[in-house]
Amino acid sequence: MFQPVFISFSLFAFDGDFPHGAGWYVGFTRLIMALFGLLAWCSLCQWIDDDQRELEIADGPMWNMIALGTGALGGLLLFMAPWFWFIWFLLMMAMAVEAKLYANLHNSMIRDTSLHLLTPTHFKRLGEKYLRLNFSPGQGVRGRNIPVMFVGKRGGAHNSDSAKFLSKAEESVGYQLALELIWNAISMRVTDIHLEPTKDETMVRFRIDGMMKAQEPMERRIGDSVLNILKVVAELDITEKRKPQDGSFQARILNPDKPKSGGRLCDFRVATSGSVAGEKMVLRILDQSKAISSLDDLGLRPKIRDQIRVIVGAPHGLFLVCGPTGAGKSTTLYASLHEIDRFTKNVITLENPVEYAISNTTQIEVNAKSGKTFAGELRSVLRQDPDVIYIGEIRDKETAEIACQAAQTGHMVFSTIHSNDAVSALARLIELGVDPSVVSNSLSGVLGQRLVRKLCPKCKEKYTPSQEALKKLNFPADRIKFLCRAAGEGKEDAENACENCGGSGYRGRTGVYELFVITDKIREMIESKAKPNIQQITQEAIKEGMTLLFTDGLRQVIAGDTSINEITRVCK
Ligand SMILES: [Zn+2]
Repeated sequence: MFQPVFISFSLFAFDGDFPHGAGWYVGFTRLIMALFGLLAWCSLCQWIDDDQRELEIADGPMWNMIALGTGALGGLLLFMAPWFWFIWFLLMMAMAVEAKLYANLHNSMIRDTSLHLLTPTHFKRLGEKYLRLNFSPGQGVRGRNIPVMFVGKRGGAHNSDSAKFLSKAEESVGYQLALELIWNAISMRVTDIHLEPTKDETMVRFRIDGMMKAQEPMERRIGDSVLNILKVVAELDITEKRKPQDGSFQARILNPDKPKSGGRLCDFRVATSGSVAGEKMVLRILDQSKAISSLDDLGLRPKIRDQIRVIVGAPHGLFLVCGPTGAGKSTTLYASLHEIDRFTKNVITLENPVEYAISNTTQIEVNAKSGKTFAGELRSVLRQDPDVIYIGEIRDKETAEIACQAAQTGHMVFSTIHSNDAVSALARLIELGVDPSVVSNSLSGVLGQRLVRKLCPKCKEKYTPSQEALKKLNFPADRIKFLCRAAGEGKEDAENACENCGGSGYRGRTGVYELFVITDKIREMIESKAKPNIQQITQEAIKEGMTLLFTDGLRQVIAGDTSINEITRVCK
């Protein structure tokens, strides 16, 4: 006998009295419950997807698939199977179990228990928040919620010993203060944190825009425990307090306004060393979100920027950036690397340490302690058929010679060198022992640079400079009506200090530059003498259009971006 295939659309009202008539076939309660299930499913999927990305969970995609799959299967059954309420209940249970399993994974990756999910404390907090219940009368919120989490070493969690130690230390004053220290530093745009012990206190100093600023000191006992926590986080040996050590860790910085956004990761380089008074520590903060990726963001004159583009875009040559420590040399070279098509070219960097990650680039960390020197690594890199090589620093004869040879044999080489101005970098290379003719044939250009602090736009003040002062600076006196200066300078502690700059009068930095391009004429001048005549070469370079650092800085003074004091301080 032929029986028609009967599919029971259980979502619709098959309560025995089908049809109702007039086309109203939908069970209203069931429809609403099904929609509720759909919404719950969507939010679960969304949450798991966001969260697994934020925590960079390796099995993230699998969790996504499970979440999607459960819902899809449940939904299908809801429509197909005749037992609506049974399936609906099963689906809810499945989602709850899944949420709990995922929450366990989530919790295992976050050390701060106050951020753990689906725990009794979490439910209590939710109750307090949404139902206005008070579970802990007369008691404040546990600890201060500092939006910083220690993550561990770059690309990995802590080893089990440190993890154990840290989970025990979590509630300690030292741990909370370490988090607070990091958070304050990040909020104040600090690049380096210095912790220096004296007899009774631990001094805290921040480097902001290149300037050291003393902070409130800590009691020595507390300072020592903060130092210990940070040593464990960076996986240093806490029993060793004299010998210099270095390490690193990452911390996740959450945005307190958007606690769900996941925040961003910051790298910290830690260096400790013993002093008479005790162990001191310097933390260098490398905020990946502040990495500059284009020459356009460096504050270069358009002419210099275009000249650099030509130099770094050439198939071979040596491009050097010079200046004192902290002059932003590596930032400029990172931006130059971004100018290069890293898909079609083989780009290799040798750095000490690797500061920022660059996509499509082989980045190698040089570490003299473990026998990886610039020169040694450079030799092996040259065997890997590179097109562009970035060498962190040239400071010995061997590296200098290999770099010059590489530049002459069809490679584009970028590096930094320690010298005061662009033309002196040339002399420095020759001093290191490279033959002048090799230098002249390989070098394509040298960029000298400094970072100057920018005036705080909120509190800078205009003033009319005297004609004399203008004349001294070679300014067109008739065209300049006013210049700007820092009003709040030296009034950091004043009560009405400007909030935007913390009373320093400056906020942020920009570069001043001089670009020395090696032309044929200059090449001849270098080769003609065993020791180059720096003065003569500088004169020639200026004749060919080079603007000196100080002159370049005056452009920023006229624009009102920085002050004469600042340019003079930096370009001494
Ligand atoms: Zn200000």
